Amino acid sequence: MGFSLETRIAQSGLDRSEPRGAISFPIYLSVTFRRPAIGQSSGFDYARTSNPTRLTLEDAVASLEGGAGACAFSSGMAAITSLFMLFRQGDHVVITEDLYGGTYGLFQQILKPLGIRSTFVDTSDVQQVKDAIRDETVALLVESPTNPLLKIADLRALAGLAKERGLLLVVDNTMMTPYLQRPLELGADVVVHSATKYLGGHNDLLAGIVVCKDPQLFERLKLLHKVVGATLSPHDAWLLLRGIKTLAVRMERHQENAFKIARWLKDHPLVTRVYYPGLPEHPGFELQCSQAGGAGGMIAFSVTSPEIAHKVLENVRLFSFAESLGGVESLITYPKLQTHAHIPAETLDRLGIDDTLLRLSVGIEHADDLIRDLQQALEKAQEQAGASIRAQRVP
Ligand SMILES: *Cc1c(COP(=O)(O)O)cnc(C)c1O
Repeated sequence: MGFSLETRIAQSGLDRSEPRGAISFPIYLSVTFRRPAIGQSSGFDYARTSNPTRLTLEDAVASLEGGAGACAFSSGMAAITSLFMLFRQGDHVVITEDLYGGTYGLFQQILKPLGIRSTFVDTSDVQQVKDAIRDETVALLVESPTNPLLKIADLRALAGLAKERGLLLVVDNTMMTPYLQRPLELGADVVVHSATKYLGGHNDLLAGIVVCKDPQLFERLKLLHKVVGATLSPHDAWLLLRGIKTLAVRMERHQENAFKIARWLKDHPLVTRVYYPGLPEHPGFELQCSQAGGAGGMIAFSVTSPEIAHKVLENVRLFSFAESLGGVESLITYPKLQTHAHIPAETLDRLGIDDTLLRLSVGIEHADDLIRDLQQALEKAQEQAGASIRAQRVP
């Protein structure tokens, strides 16, 4: 029987063959497992290789993404780093330019000295991706929507290009989750997640997931998973499974709130630009509708001056001024100085990630309360910024 996605999400990890009938899958802390006899195994030998709680989580995410299998790592960065251990000296990867700052750091500071090269382009423009492909290129690593500018990449077109040129298409699906976007169904080969964000959903655990479409690639990933050893602990695997069960209802509320806030921000006199792929005027709107089930809960917006941006951060009450995204509580960040601080200044300038840009991770609170909070913060920002300009003029 084919159940709908919401049903499968709510029953993630529910194992009907669990001997004692537990509805919440047990946390197995045992590191080692007794062998029934020489040459036999219960399927579990040693926890770095496999653990029942972690395996239940991995199977649940693999099923939601439609992959052959998944591996759960101790963080999103551990997942991405372990995956790129598949590659070797001389290999080249084409990557989204406004992507998660940590992934940028991995390629520039860790993989480049090891001889794995990368080129960063605007992956919402397929031609730029085509032009960046060289003989040594082995993979495309794409975020859609991007972070923080929420540009949309044509995942079907990139999958076609990857197939034609014999490349692996890897999609970081952190922002969308399998509830809203399933890149493997659109032709991608690998999906990575920072499960710290929406999958976990409560700002209380670090985790990463890699899902492979192809069973042979999955076997290679499993070897890296156990040998590199950055595996997810049984406790965090359980916490993540618990978070995933409410993913569908959380994502619906996140994006309902985000849409209301984006529409409200658009008309505010101190806001010069709103980036949200759920607004019909967003350049990626149609594409997003064609490949995803919604626009998600992230918004970026620019205000009239850096001073206004600073004062908004100081005056928000309900939004917390904090890094990260995807939790039930609303957060506001300043990408230039926080999440994207290690990207060179000239790149940030070219991308438009400047000191007037703010990013919201919209939570699941009441939308009216969130809008009122932004309204009062913008009002105070205007008063205080005006006052300090007047004070500067006083000799
Ligand atoms: C946070 C994030 C990561 C890194 O994940 P961690 O769990 O913090 O290690 C990678 N990609 C994206 C898109 C992210 O938002």
